[in-house]
Amino acid sequence: MSEVLLSGGRVVDPNGERAADVRVLDGVVAEVGERLAPGAGALVLDASGAIVTPGLVDLQVHFREPGREDAEDVESGARAAALGGCTAVVCMPNTEPPLDDAAVVEAVLERGRRSACDVRAAGCITKGRAGRELAPLGELYDLGVRIFTDDGDCVADANVMRRAFEYAAALPGAVLAQHAEDPALVRGGHMNEGEWSARLGIPGRPVEAESTIVARDLALARLTGGRYHVLHMSAAQSAHLVREAKAQGVRVTAECTPQHLVLTDEACATFDPVFKMNPPLRSRADVDGMRAALVDGTIDAIATDHAPHPPEAKEQPFEEAPPGMLGVETALAVVWTTLVEPGVVTPERAFAALSWAPARIAGLDADGHGVPIEPGRPANLCVFDPSHTWVVESHALASKSRNSPWEGWTLTGRVRHTILHGRPTVRDGALA
Ligand SMILES: [Zn+2]
Repeated sequence: MSEVLLSGGRVVDPNGERAADVRVLDGVVAEVGERLAPGAGALVLDASGAIVTPGLVDLQVHFREPGREDAEDVESGARAAALGGCTAVVCMPNTEPPLDDAAVVEAVLERGRRSACDVRAAGCITKGRAGRELAPLGELYDLGVRIFTDDGDCVADANVMRRAFEYAAALPGAVLAQHAEDPALVRGGHMNEGEWSARLGIPGRPVEAESTIVARDLALARLTGGRYHVLHMSAAQSAHLVREAKAQGVRVTAECTPQHLVLTDEACATFDPVFKMNPPLRSRADVDGMRAALVDGTIDAIATDHAPHPPEAKEQPFEEAPPGMLGVETALAVVWTTLVEPGVVTPERAFAALSWAPARIAGLDADGHGVPIEPGRPANLCVFDPSHTWVVESHALASKSRNSPWEGWTLTGRVRHTILHGRPTVRDGALA
């Protein structure tokens, strides 16, 4: 029998908070209680002063495989995610080729089986992410795909989206996740449209590009009874729509990124492409709107949209550089430093948004992620030291790329151990 004992921590999970040691036997939580004695040969991991929580689940990562393994691959991305406390991630399908085909999806899942996280793949809604013809949703579903999206691009054609909702409604647990940006409204834009884009002379992408798509999709979800998820929601007016739809019983969930909860479009005044992403960083009012939506549960989950780019891609003028930034390794510490420590959200709310809410959205709770820490449950755990202070140095991150917007930030809180199926993937802050 292999035993791991997490000693001296405080458990925070969907059942609340309490001081407790956690004994793991052969990959399963065996005992939760105070002052447990280790068995012979047990691996004892120090959790004193730390929070023991279900492993984090990131609903939106770009591990660039297949096609751009120079920027990231499943193995390097999963290592970075484990260092960030993740035990499961969902890879977006905008790869080269895209994940619109069972063989390509199966190859990514196979790579994931040998990695530091449980890796799931989102499947395309349309063939080639071209927005016209539906991808073989049923075939991808049979491989375990539950999230369908053309992420990177919006499904612009309302009728295609309607057909996808109708098709997906017959697949239990399937959800359509939208990159909500109307392509016509964002064409030629490189940052949020507003005071800063006007001042900097950079063409903008208005918040209405997002909110009009969200409004349309909510109407289609209502019409079809389908499940809808808003990826990386960024605009306060989108949050209003989602809040209202939830109150009316529409089957909708939403996520927000750490960057959209913290940074504003003023960051683009540096002309540093590290701050370029889609949807773009928004105004202070939108950031405040996202925070309010996270607090009241309109936003269910925090996902990173981890989007690595090699240095040569980002070392271009702002308007030519590709959008996207790193996130998996820093998300929890950024949330802790900027939202939990200042009292914007409680620790429980933060962990819910980073673990058990996204696990439920992706159906990963059925595989033992984001579930209560109690006997009989699979041991997928994160041990987080909330007082460990560190400085983000992108060259020291496990990702293959370096485009972190948090470079040089002093963060409070760091993942000490990550446990996947009862085995440490991260031990004492380093890859195990
Ligand atoms: Zn996207």
